[in-house]
Amino acid sequence: MTVVRQAELMIVNDVHSRLNATRADQVVTVDSLTALCRAVTDARGSHLTVAGGRHAMGGQQFGSGSTVLDTRPMARVLGFDQRQGHIEVEAGIQWPELVDYLLAAQQGRVSQWGIAQKQTGANFFTVGGSVSANCHGRGLTMAPIVHDVESLRLVRSDGSVVTCSRQQNPELFGLVVGGYGLFGAVYSVTPRRLIALPSSRRVSILITAGCLNHGPTQPAAVICPGRMGVLGRVFPRSSDALGWVRVPLGA
Ligand SMILES: Cc1cc2nc3c(=O)[nH]c(=O)nc-3n(C[C@H](O)[C@H](O)[C@H](O)COP(=O)(O)OP(=O)(O)OC[C@H]3O[C@@H](n4cnc5c(N)ncnc54)[C@H](O)[C@@H]3O)c2cc1C
Repeated sequence: MTVVRQAELMIVNDVHSRLNATRADQVVTVDSLTALCRAVTDARGSHLTVAGGRHAMGGQQFGSGSTVLDTRPMARVLGFDQRQGHIEVEAGIQWPELVDYLLAAQQGRVSQWGIAQKQTGANFFTVGGSVSANCHGRGLTMAPIVHDVESLRLVRSDGSVVTCSRQQNPELFGLVVGGYGLFGAVYSVTPRRLIALPSSRRVSILITAGCLNHGPTQPAAVICPGRMGVLGRVFPRSSDALGWVRVPLGA
């Protein structure tokens, strides 16, 4: 655990809009469950906020005069059940790190687990921040990430650790996912049933009358079949490969 109190580092901001410059009291970097519990306990009685990748543009990661927890070093994979496709990760892991892990852990396997959805325009969100925002991916017919979360471990304001899922502490589970850090600090998340099989993406390009007037002659509609499937073979390291896990339809 590292505590930073240097004045110039106390101004925190989100990385996209840069509209939320805030003066924190201190930034505490946490890299383990022990460090997270200690930081939460130490901050009792004062204002505590939890930051992941700092992309949310509403400034929810920071509070004026607060202790800001920087969770990004807390980025290990804690367990990977290759049979079921469940993986437990620390909340500070970012999607590119998770994809890298999946590629390395399954190298050479014919059937690989991967992720299906992709956020729009940015990659370096933490899994904890994504769950806390209950984000959605690009797939318009796909549910938000809560659908893909099996369970999570939460550090509460008294420093205790609780597991939340649809079976254990279900009310808290519903509050934490999409709760923007208001109900505790998420230590780990277990996404469930990563997507297993190659799927396909169908893209329709419709040429409007305006386009036809100004551009070269093109067909009115084009269907472009393309594979989005097994990660690493299709979009290794590309931004299109990054996103969140998805339960296969019908599961
Ligand atoms: C360019 C861009 C594109 C985006 N595209 C999409 C999109 O397609 N779909 C979508 O749904 N969203 C989208 N978002 C929003 C994004 O999903 C959320 O902002 C997400 O929370 C970012 O993750 P982060 O790690 O940066 O979290 P942060 O910005 O650091 O934190 C976001 C919230 O989560 C809380 N939090 C973070 N970590 C924890 C933790 N460990 N425990 C408890 N609370 C925590 C913070 O307190 C804060 O309230 C986009 C944002 C940007 C900037």
